[in-house]
Amino acid sequence: MFWTGDLIARNAPIRRRAVPPPREAPHIGRWIAAYLGLAIGDALGATVEFLTPNEIRHEHGVHREITGGGWLRLKAGRVTDDTTMSLALGEAILACGCVEAQAAAAAFDAWMRAKPVDIGNTVRRNLIQFRKTGNPEAPASEHDAGNGAAMRTLPVALACYGRPPETAIFASRAQAHVTHHNTLSDAACETLIFMVHDLLAGRDPGEVQRERADELVRRHPVFSYGKKRVENPSGYVVDTMQAVFQSFYGTNSFEECLLDVVNRGGDADTTGAIAGMLAGARYGSEAIPARWLKALDPQVASQCSNQARALLTQASSGAASDRIPTRPDPAP
Ligand code: MG
Ligand code: MG
Repeated sequence: MFWTGDLIARNAPIRRRAVPPPREAPHIGRWIAAYLGLAIGDALGATVEFLTPNEIRHEHGVHREITGGGWLRLKAGRVTDDTTMSLALGEAILACGCVEAQAAAAAFDAWMRAKPVDIGNTVRRNLIQFRKTGNPEAPASEHDAGNGAAMRTLPVALACYGRPPETAIFASRAQAHVTHHNTLSDAACETLIFMVHDLLAGRDPGEVQRERADELVRRHPVFSYGKKRVENPSGYVVDTMQAVFQSFYGTNSFEECLLDVVNRGGDADTTGAIAGMLAGARYGSEAIPARWLKALDPQVASQCSNQARALLTQASSGAASDRIPTRPDPAP
């Protein structure tokens, strides 16, 4: 496959040179923190997934430790589909040197065959369809507005760092449409990718909020997150994004952000994973509580760190930009 940026570059090399460089040299600590944040949010939230805030209060007071359990009966420190699908996607990106829909679909299919601890209904349905048809793009569906594509955007964000926005959008849709071909899901995925880019570059979070989160609401008012506190967020990508935005912008540290979001209950592993990714990119490794780092499954922790490093190397070397696109050129 292909990066949209490459198609542009092939046809108009001058424009390629005009692409501005990233605002700041990549800071590996933030890349790793974003990936560890994703996994920590997933592991922390999984304990209280599908509980209401009242049930959480009753059982845990404030849920603040990575203890495993929950409806999946996880061992402490283990993660769920949010992290493992991200890792599978990242491996496919590294193997191809680019974000490629067929490779992403094959990686997700292999992931499903390995019997993951949990899997979303939309993911399962569209991967079964992929097995039958070999087509890595699910048909567009208004019913597929779940958060299953948004939860695994991080490797695409890292791989597309420093590239033109249209490249990131193209890559995002290539991976997302394997299982979720939906306008709201696309808008959420793309917003998250641009937020990660901005936060990794050290941009002011208030500016990022205005340019990204508020822009998402302007384009799709359904994502409006300013009013009522979202509790018990469902797997609907709008609920997920509202809860994440409220926690991310309503708190001032990595720990506070994650505690705020997972104690809302509902799809807490996924809100935890997405908020953890953003908070890691914003606050960096030093801000991650040592007790959470210690509790995270060591194998998962090293997979996340290694993949963040490898994606940084790939993004910095520009390896993907030299790939020959496999998409047919538009008819003359
Ligand atoms: Mg999960
Ligand atoms: Mg979940």
